Amino acid sequence: MISRKRSEELFTLAKTYFPGGVNSPVRAFRSVGGTPLFIKKGDGCMLTDEDGNTFVDFCLSWGPMILGHNSSIVREKVWETIQNGTSFGAPTALENELAELILNNNRFIEKLRFVSSGTEAVMSAVRLARGYTGRDKILKFEGCYHGHVDSLLVKAGSGLVTFGNSSSAGVPKGLVNDTIVVPLNRIDLVEEAFKQFPGEIAAIIIEPIPANNGLLQVSKEFLFCLQCKANAHGALLIFDEVISGFRVGFEGAAGLYDIKPDIITYGKIIGGGFPVGAYGASAEIMSKVSPDGDVYQAGTLSGNPVAMSAGIAALGECLKPGFYEQLDAKTQRFTESIENYAQQKNYPFRIFRIGSIFWLAFTRNDIRAAEEIDPDGMAYFKKLHAFLLNEGVYFGPSGYEVGFVSTAHNDEQLNKAADCISRGLDYIFAA
Ligand SMILES: *Cc1c(COP(=O)(O)O)cnc(C)c1O
Repeated sequence: MISRKRSEELFTLAKTYFPGGVNSPVRAFRSVGGTPLFIKKGDGCMLTDEDGNTFVDFCLSWGPMILGHNSSIVREKVWETIQNGTSFGAPTALENELAELILNNNRFIEKLRFVSSGTEAVMSAVRLARGYTGRDKILKFEGCYHGHVDSLLVKAGSGLVTFGNSSSAGVPKGLVNDTIVVPLNRIDLVEEAFKQFPGEIAAIIIEPIPANNGLLQVSKEFLFCLQCKANAHGALLIFDEVISGFRVGFEGAAGLYDIKPDIITYGKIIGGGFPVGAYGASAEIMSKVSPDGDVYQAGTLSGNPVAMSAGIAALGECLKPGFYEQLDAKTQRFTESIENYAQQKNYPFRIFRIGSIFWLAFTRNDIRAAEEIDPDGMAYFKKLHAFLLNEGVYFGPSGYEVGFVSTAHNDEQLNKAADCISRGLDYIFAA
C-alpha cells in the first residue's frame, strides 16, 4: 500500500474548510472510497503526491493537459507574460492572438467570446440561443453533462449519476420546466419534442462526443439529423465541445464529423491548464452578444492575459502537423493492448476510445446510452482504481469518467501502465 499520511492530514484539514474537503465534488473520491491524493506537482505524464508517490496520470486535470503537465512551452510563454502584470480589465493583444489562432483554423465559427470556465461558456451559449431565437426551452440529452448550469442540471452526467441524484437541489422548477431531456440517438423523440412544443425550443444542446457519463457512442447520422431538425424548426444547434474541442482534432467533433452546429462551446484544453472557456458562432449570431447586441454577458477576468498565453502556447502545439495523428495512434496502441488481453482472458471488459479519449467499461456490449451502463460495473471500477493507485497509475476517481492520453505519455510509460491495468483486471476478475 502506498503511504497516504500527508494526503490524509491535508484532507482532514480541508474538510474543515470546504464541503466534502474539496472545491469540485468528484475530487472527493466518494465513489471509489479512500482519501483523495493531494498533488504536489506534475511533470509530463507523471504526478507526484504530497507523500512522494508518483503516478502515470490519465486524468490530466479532467482533460485540459493535452501536452502533459508543466509543459516548458506553456510555462515559458506564461512566464514571459506574467512579468508584465496579470490582469487589467482592458483589452490585450494576447486575446487577439488566441482568437486568430482559433478562428483561422476553424471552419465552423467566425467570432467568439472568451470566458473563464466551461460552465460559463455553456451558460452564455444557452442565453445567446434564447436571445437569438426569442424562445425559452432547451432540449438536452440524457447522459450529457454541460457544467453546473441551472437549466441543464437535469438528469446530467457523471457526478450526479455517481451520487445517485437525477438533478440538483436549488434549481428553480421554472427552469427545469424549460428543459426537455431526451435519450441519445432517438431522433424520433427529438421530432416528438418539436411537435409537442412548437415554436418554443430555442436550442438543442449536445456533447457531440458524450464523455461525462462513460464515453457514449453517438452516430454521425444522429448529429447530422439534429442539425436538420434544428434548422427545420427554427432552433439552434449547440455543440458543447468543452471536452472534445481541440481533443479529437483542432476543430473538435464538428471537424471530425464535418457538421456545422450554430454555436460551439469550448473549455478545458483551450486554456492550456488555466481557467478559460469560450463560445463561438457565425458573425451574425455573435452580433447578438453585448455590446453589439442585447444578450448581456461579461467577465472581470475574461480573456485574462496569463490564461490567454497558456492557451496560445498549447494550441500552437496542437496545430503542428501530425499532432493528433500521433496522439491518436499512441492511444490506440495502448487501449488495444489492454483490450486484447481482456479478450484473451474473456473478461467482461472493453475500452471505448475516440482519439485520445478512452473509457474503461465493464461490459461486453456496445454502450450507446447512459442507462445501458451497468451500475454493478462500478464495483469493479472501485477495485481496479484502488489497485492502480498502488501500482502508480492514476485515473479520475469515478467509473463514469473517461481517461485521456497526452503527448507527454511515451510508449514505455504507456506499456507499463497497460501491463498494470491488465494485471488489475486479473486481480478484479480472479474467481
Ligand atoms: C467539463 C465540462 C463542462 C464544464 O466545464 P467547467 O470548466 O468544469 O465549468 C461543460 N461541458 C462539458 C462537455 C464538459 O466536459
